[in-house]
Amino acid sequence: MNFIFQISIPIPFEIQTVNIYLIKKEPITLIDTGMKLPETYRYLDNSLKEAGITWQHIKRVIITHGHVDHFGFGKRIMELSNPTFFVHKEEYLKIKEGITFPKGFAEVLIKNGTPDGMINKIINYVKKVNQFGDKLDKARFNILYGGERIEFDDRFYLKVIHTPGHTPGHICLYNEKDGIIFSGDHLLQKTTPNPLFDWRGKEGNQSQHSKVLIDYIRSLRKIEKLDLKIAFPGHGLPFRDIKSLIQKIYNHHSQRLKNVLNEMDSQKDMTPYQIGCKLFPDMNIKDVLLVVSEILGHLDILLDKEMVKRKVTNDRIYYIKEKLPFYKGIFKDIIKSYIE
Ligand SMILES: [Zn+2]
Repeated sequence: MNFIFQISIPIPFEIQTVNIYLIKKEPITLIDTGMKLPETYRYLDNSLKEAGITWQHIKRVIITHGHVDHFGFGKRIMELSNPTFFVHKEEYLKIKEGITFPKGFAEVLIKNGTPDGMINKIINYVKKVNQFGDKLDKARFNILYGGERIEFDDRFYLKVIHTPGHTPGHICLYNEKDGIIFSGDHLLQKTTPNPLFDWRGKEGNQSQHSKVLIDYIRSLRKIEKLDLKIAFPGHGLPFRDIKSLIQKIYNHHSQRLKNVLNEMDSQKDMTPYQIGCKLFPDMNIKDVLLVVSEILGHLDILLDKEMVKRKVTNDRIYYIKEKLPFYKGIFKDIIKSYIE
C-alpha cells in the first residue's frame, strides 16, 4: 500500500489533527482537504514533494463529508491544481454554498428547549469554526450517490459507500481487493462519531429531524459486513481492529440509551435540552449542538420502541418516559434490532 500517503495536519480542535490522504496512482487523488490554515499548505506541500509530485498533478479531490476540517482547504487546492471535486449529493450544497448554520438549525434547537439566549452564542461559535473553510462556489463537481466506482490506473478503484449518520451525505471509500476503507468520520478509533441532527428532516419538514442515530447504526452495519483489513480514518492513525471497534460503538449507544432513559421522568415532561443538561452537566456553548443531537438521536430510538412519548406544547417539544417494567439487558437488543 505504498501508494497511500497519510498526511496528518494539526487543527485547533480537541481532536488535534485531521487527515488528508494522497493516492499516488493516476489520476492523482486526494481524499479530504484539511482546514484553511497555513499548516495545511505547508504539510501538504511537503508531502507532495516527498511523494515526488507537484500541485498540478492533483486531478481529483474526494470529500468524505461537508465539515470544515474535511473540505476547508479545498478552495486553495482548486486555485493550485484545479481538480474535480467528488462529493455526495447531500453534502454538495454545504460545500458549494458554504451554508454552515442554516436558519432551520436554530429553529430545531429552540423547539427542543435550547434557551433563546444561547442561540446567538451558538451561531457565533459555529461561525468562528467555519472561518477555517471557504465555500467552493467555483469548483468543478462530480456528484456522488453511493455505489459508484472511482477508477485509477492498474485497475485499482474505490467504491463509494453512502454512510449517512455523522452527516446525511457522509461517504466511505472501499477497495475490496486490498480490504481497505477510507472511513472519514464514520469510524474513528479514539472518539465516538456524533451523528448530527439533520435540520431539514426527511420530508423537508423543519420541525422534524431525520433519525440520524438509526441511520448511523445502519451505516455501521454496512461497514461491518465488508471484508476489511485496514481503515484509514479522518482523524488519527490507521487501524485494523475494525469489527471490535464497531461492536464498541454499538455497546456505547446501548449504554447511552439506558442513560438517557434514566435521566427522564414518567411524571414530568422534559425537553431534549433539559435531558442533555442532566446527562452532561458540564456542557458549554460549543457542546450544545452536539448534546442536543445526541439526545435527539437516542430519543428517536426510544420513541420508536414506545418507551417514551413526545408532545408539542407552545411550539416546544417535550418527552415523557412511559411507565415501564424493570428491564435488564434490553438496550443491546434494541440496537441490534436496527442491524438485523
Ligand atoms: Zn472531522
